[in-house]
Amino acid sequence: MDNVNYYNQSELWKDNINNRELIRFQEIIRVVPRNISSLLDIGCGNGQLLKFLLQQLEIPNLFGIDISLTALKIAKNMAPNAIFLYASADKLPFEDKSFDIIIASEVLEHLPYKVYEQTLKEISRVSKKYILITVPNNEDLKRTYIRCPYCGCIFSRCRHLRSFNEDILKVLFKNYQFKVKILREIGPITRLYPKIILKIAIKLKILSLISHGHPVCPQCGWRPERRNHIYKEHRNNIKRKGIFFKFDFFKKFISKTTKPWLLCLYERNDG
Ligand SMILES: [Zn+2]
Repeated sequence: MDNVNYYNQSELWKDNINNRELIRFQEIIRVVPRNISSLLDIGCGNGQLLKFLLQQLEIPNLFGIDISLTALKIAKNMAPNAIFLYASADKLPFEDKSFDIIIASEVLEHLPYKVYEQTLKEISRVSKKYILITVPNNEDLKRTYIRCPYCGCIFSRCRHLRSFNEDILKVLFKNYQFKVKILREIGPITRLYPKIILKIAIKLKILSLISHGHPVCPQCGWRPERRNHIYKEHRNNIKRKGIFFKFDFFKKFISKTTKPWLLCLYERNDG
């Protein structure tokens, strides 16, 4: 299943915003510069972020683009004051420096090789002043992998194709005359357990695996029939059970804390 078909699945866009995402949106609002009059949300999906921006900030010209017509249909109702266009991030249908700020939140990690390079170029061409990026923080892609039971292909359940850290973000737009203004971890504090601990805890039934996302095999198109299908290969999304995880000192001893996303705000350098 190619990307266009994948992102046209209606299940992907039905879910309401959860608490984690709400925190991400609030952090985005906090750093959006107040001296802007136009904003483009790249990969706007079902328009939840634009709706939130409309409620919180007074920005006269809000635009969103996406390659999913299914998502755009929902977005038009979600944020009726914004303008939505069907377009790909690597071919933006706008003149140079059309927007004061361009936001790409949870988008770059999904882009295939050539599209990714071209998208960075396009974002910097169309932005007049700022670029705001959020991506998963130091994601271990292997933890998102599942094996297709039909053809054996191993793939990321959430179609994440690359992982980002602070060093990568620092130089992301360096060749395009954008400098970093703010770079920080965002989101609720999350505990990361070593894989071996998770393996043992699952064996002892202290933890159980839960599934999330809507995986579709990119090679043969297989998809699970039940949404709550449990995948043996996936050990990232876990449900805590029992008294074991109630001991704080133990948790601190075996795990490290992190935040789920990185946010980076860039500012144009060339005046
Ligand atoms: Zn397959």
